[in-house]
Amino acid sequence: MKAIVIGGGIIGLCSAYYLKKSGWDVTVLDHSDVNTSCSYGNLGMIVPSHFVPLASPGIVAKGFRWMLNSRSPFYVRPSFNRELISWGWKFMKNANAQNVEIAAAPLLHFNLYSKHLYEELSGQPGFSFALEKKGILMYYKTQAAADEEAHLANKARQMGLDAAVLSKEHIQQLEPETELNILGAVHYRCDAHLYPNKLVPQLVDYLKTSGADIQSNRPVMKMIVGKGTITKVVTREKEYEADVIVLAGGAWLQQLARMVQLYVPLMPGKGYSFTHNHPQKKLNIPAILCEARVAITPMNGHMRYGGTMEIGAPDNKINLKRVEGIVASVSNYFPGIKLDIPEEKDIWYGFRPCSPDGLPYIGRSSKLKNLLIAGGHSMMGLSMGPATGKVIADIANDKKTEADISLFNPERYS
Ligand SMILES: Cc1cc2nc3c(=O)[nH]c(=O)nc-3n(C[C@H](O)[C@H](O)[C@H](O)COP(=O)(O)OP(=O)(O)OC[C@H]3O[C@@H](n4cnc5c(N)ncnc54)[C@H](O)[C@@H]3O)c2cc1C
Repeated sequence: MKAIVIGGGIIGLCSAYYLKKSGWDVTVLDHSDVNTSCSYGNLGMIVPSHFVPLASPGIVAKGFRWMLNSRSPFYVRPSFNRELISWGWKFMKNANAQNVEIAAAPLLHFNLYSKHLYEELSGQPGFSFALEKKGILMYYKTQAAADEEAHLANKARQMGLDAAVLSKEHIQQLEPETELNILGAVHYRCDAHLYPNKLVPQLVDYLKTSGADIQSNRPVMKMIVGKGTITKVVTREKEYEADVIVLAGGAWLQQLARMVQLYVPLMPGKGYSFTHNHPQKKLNIPAILCEARVAITPMNGHMRYGGTMEIGAPDNKINLKRVEGIVASVSNYFPGIKLDIPEEKDIWYGFRPCSPDGLPYIGRSSKLKNLLIAGGHSMMGLSMGPATGKVIADIANDKKTEADISLFNPERYS
């Protein structure tokens, strides 16, 4: 049985991995070099704690306020683009307490399932990607953020997660080398992190040595449909036929879906990161700076700093103001960590595939029977990669999935 996976980011590679493991003949087609996807320079966090989707109450008002500040962590590039307006309208409609409540348990269970699969994967020959289970610390400086985080921690504990509200003194014992200018933090001990720069090439190596065909610089130009199936996947060089086709095009999923007349709304959410390979100061535990929406991960001996969310069409420009915002926030929380503004060549950026309700799209198309869709994971694609890949392989094999994916129906907007 032959499968074609379109997109070689974490979602496509994990889908290819579990398809290959269950006996499929797999080809991965990627637009670029698979090492340049959004799945490479991200912060590597595995986050059962993130059970609140991006579209949540308060984000719209905060978003409008942040838009007035060029260093802010969230920005919607103003445009009369019809897709952006339609996405923004759906996002605002979804940002309510009822949707957050409905999404919480499925997101949490899916992330826990994925973490379990990462643990399993890290024990396999050829895989060693610096997986660490120290949790993450959600730092705050203001009483308003402290109240919000305490409320979320309480909810997390009710849902069975290991989350503790810690005082500054307690955190100082966990981070004895770091000067803290904070009020406190919530420690989500349930979370984990890894080094994506090792994980992604190891998945590629596994696939290549087990006989999968990985084609980089092979953008899919169109797909031909006949009698309720995709009959051909067309690239500039070659046409492909397969029993199963997995769309895993990240921030370009909407364009890919449109090739087969499906509507999967999505906007790219650009974010930046930079990595110090020989840092003078290191944190022990990954950190999220709540008010600043900046993340810091000690990974494999390096320190990676990142953040910002610029909603808009993909471009190759680096907005240095946003990167300056990240740099300033770090020393605001940790006065002993003084960072220089990185040179442009050292700044990485990627496009998070953001659905308007903050939920991924995972499942089989009801209209095209050999089409599976996997994407739209926004800020959690790395975290949810293995669970998505396993579920995709189970669906392809007509097996019952171990996770409930009913909320992630890829045709929910069609
Ligand atoms: C700064 C930052 C920090 C982040 N931190 C975290 C984190 O700590 N934890 C977490 O879980 N997530 C994090 N994320 C989000 C995560 O990186 C993404 O959700 C994830 O990488 C998306 O994976 P993907 O496979 O769907 O897309 P991608 O990794 O973007 O892969 C999609 C691939 O599809 C290919 N493609 C597109 N169109 C075509 C076509 N027509 N033909 C062939 N190929 C095509 C592209 O070339 C690309 O390689 C972060 C993101 C950013 C920007």
